[in-house]
Amino acid sequence: MSVAVVLFTSDLRVHDQPVLRAAVDGADEVVPLFVRDTGIAAAGFDAPNRRAFLADCLASLDASLRERGGRLVIRSGDVVDEVCRVVRESGAREVHVAAGASRYAGRREDRLRTELESAGASLTAHDAVVTAVPPGRITPLGKDHFSVFTPYFRRWEETGRRATAAAPRAVRVPRIDGEPLPERAAVGGVSPGLARGGEKVARERLTSWLAGGIGSYADRHDDLAGDATSRLSPYLHFGCLSPVELVRRAERVPGPGAEAFVRQLAWRDFHHQVLAARPESSWSDYRTRGDRWRTDEEETAAWREGRTGYPVVDAAMRQLLHEGWMHNRGRLLAASFLTKTLYVDWRTGARHFLELLADGDIADNQLNWQWVAGTGTDTRPNRVLNPLVQARRFDPRGAYVRRWIPELAGLAGSSVHEPWRLTGADRARLDYPAPVVDLAEGRDRFARAREPGSARG
Ligand code: FAD
Repeated sequence: MSVAVVLFTSDLRVHDQPVLRAAVDGADEVVPLFVRDTGIAAAGFDAPNRRAFLADCLASLDASLRERGGRLVIRSGDVVDEVCRVVRESGAREVHVAAGASRYAGRREDRLRTELESAGASLTAHDAVVTAVPPGRITPLGKDHFSVFTPYFRRWEETGRRATAAAPRAVRVPRIDGEPLPERAAVGGVSPGLARGGEKVARERLTSWLAGGIGSYADRHDDLAGDATSRLSPYLHFGCLSPVELVRRAERVPGPGAEAFVRQLAWRDFHHQVLAARPESSWSDYRTRGDRWRTDEEETAAWREGRTGYPVVDAAMRQLLHEGWMHNRGRLLAASFLTKTLYVDWRTGARHFLELLADGDIADNQLNWQWVAGTGTDTRPNRVLNPLVQARRFDPRGAYVRRWIPELAGLAGSSVHEPWRLTGADRARLDYPAPVVDLAEGRDRFARAREPGSARG
């Protein structure tokens, strides 16, 4: 009786799941394994929102495997030790895993390969599981990755995609011990509005998105109050959805909405290929500008708590606290405000986002932060998003601000974006802070810092 182990990581699904498919096709019995990896917790990446979302994902995966006669085997500890233990206990000869883009995933794969080989077993790392186009599959002439999105996207569009893999009908699991599933309810400090995780919810959301919202995505994706994006990001992060399947299905939807949506999925792959080629860009400048960032605990705390006095920035930051998710336009303007108006290090902001985002992802979070800070792949690194201009453009009636800042709910229309204009008793009654910084002062601060020759180390 041959046995294979499937090590689930960022691919918590049964549909279009090449890792599971290969194991089921190649062995009589399969151990579907998830290791609650102490290394992830030690790296400080085990944030409550993601832990809670993960609990849902594992419960959903276990249910899908049970429908097929199997179950999910949970272990805790060092991921490599646990896989080797399961291999010994089950007599498995092969282990399958999805290839990852981060340094952590790369090291995990290297360590696993070495340890398994000495135990007489093999490791297969599968491409195009976590991204639609694997990192390194397309490269510019003489380089190991694309550093600019547009030429990447041109090649990405032309690149052939693998066929989708049907979900296995049956999964036979040998007798082997596992731990109980973690429970979402046992996780403390979770955002009250955090979405439910798991493949089942993800597929329902995907079906309704493809049938509806995607059509108006090109026109409405920046409308803060309209909330008209797919909200699929946490499901993609945990691999409840396959990016290959998602791209294939979206490409079948006619019209500019689907085209714009597919382009965003390519951004995800773009960041993964940058990170895979430059793993140090997770915490170091991808293209340094010699910044000597300011440290200002009070201003940074105001930013984190949504009390900067700039309503649209504060609304975005409060959405993050409440939902563990933030609209992309909110992420852009909140990140620009921290790095280019307060001139605080992008790493400070990225860390805060990672503490809260259900979709918090090393490739997408860090490289988007770097893009906004001008230390990444943006070809206009000194662009500054003015929160007032952004607010007027992307929340013209002020509905987004009123939704997230109850103190301002009484202000009508777009006047909600400039509460400092109120005078006398109206101002005195308002329980909302004055701006932490004058925008012109912030702009000058940033411009001076980035002037050639100034503030450079
Ligand atoms: P949609 O607009 O419906 O887009 C569909 C999918 O495309 C998203 O789910 C996502 O997987 C991908 N996508 C869209 N925009 C981007 C982008 N700019 N970069 C990479 N992928 C993209 N995204 C994350 O998944 N995890 C993060 O940790 C993360 N951190 C971010 C931090 C900052 C400062 C910024 C500016 C952006 C960040 N993003 C991150 C990208 C983007 O904001 C989110 O993917 C998007 O808001 C998720 O909402 P959605 O699923 O409704 O997206």
